[in-house]
Amino acid sequence: LEDLEIAPTERTNPYKAYITITYGCDRFCTYCIVPYVRGRLQSRSHTEIIKEAEVLAASGVSEISLLGQNVDAYGKDTNGEYDFASLLKDVSKIEGIKRLRFTTSHPKDFDENILDVMASEPLICRNINLPVQSGSDRILKEMNRGYTVSEYTDLVEKIRGSLPDVCLTTDMIVGFPQETEDDFRASYDLLKELRFDIVHTAAYSPRKGTKAAVMDGQIDNKVKATRLNELNAMQTLLARELNENYVGKKFEILVDGTAPIGEGLLQGRTQTDKVVIIKGGPEYMGRYIDVNIVRASHWSLEGEII
Ligand code: SF4
Repeated sequence: LEDLEIAPTERTNPYKAYITITYGCDRFCTYCIVPYVRGRLQSRSHTEIIKEAEVLAASGVSEISLLGQNVDAYGKDTNGEYDFASLLKDVSKIEGIKRLRFTTSHPKDFDENILDVMASEPLICRNINLPVQSGSDRILKEMNRGYTVSEYTDLVEKIRGSLPDVCLTTDMIVGFPQETEDDFRASYDLLKELRFDIVHTAAYSPRKGTKAAVMDGQIDNKVKATRLNELNAMQTLLARELNENYVGKKFEILVDGTAPIGEGLLQGRTQTDKVVIIKGGPEYMGRYIDVNIVRASHWSLEGEII
């Protein structure tokens, strides 16, 4: 276990840092190699994590992201008494932390305790990546995801009911072995119905050593590509529509870098992790500023400093 305490912190700029809180995974999704190469779930000691977060906060970091393959399972490999909700609560109390993020969640492990602590601690960012992976119960079973479409939909409703301003994102795989046109249509319809801000889509790609790689009914690459394109085209329109709701409204952003394109442009993020491009000089770097959103595209917003 000692190895776990080595280099778990990554600092990408002076204001943001990432802390790994779990290694490995116990879920054994049939397409995933993680449990075989990284091993079973191992939660790091919460006292170590909190100590690291305190050191980071004292050195000027104001945004911390807690990372793991399945952060919601934190503590389930120990006695389970100190769970992910406990960790969120304790890290959010550290002086100097203004934003606390986490990724990735698993629908089966995202529980009421997590939702309650999020609802009561406003600095825990209203941004949850909740991978669904398929809209077909049959395929979800083949994937060994451990939930049905209706259980997933109920969870989304519960989260949105409790955190009305939440920005939900998800992951979706197309072309899993035996995926029929109807299964694909179910995935497509689910995304259309649940309206996620971002969907990380992927065409299924077999990983050697996993159960899914040797399943019958592997899907032709051309079919996978067609399905992926169709899903992406729909999601691009949807994301633009959702982002347009931000136009004309005021948000606080943390300015954390220069924009990937354009002279004299900076990039920041809202609490819900929306990318906002603004005009401005280096004096804004690392600052929390209020902006008016004036334009939206499917992947970013354009803002004016107030
Ligand atoms: S929950 Fe994520 S990391 Fe764990 S087995 Fe499934 S896909 Fe892999």
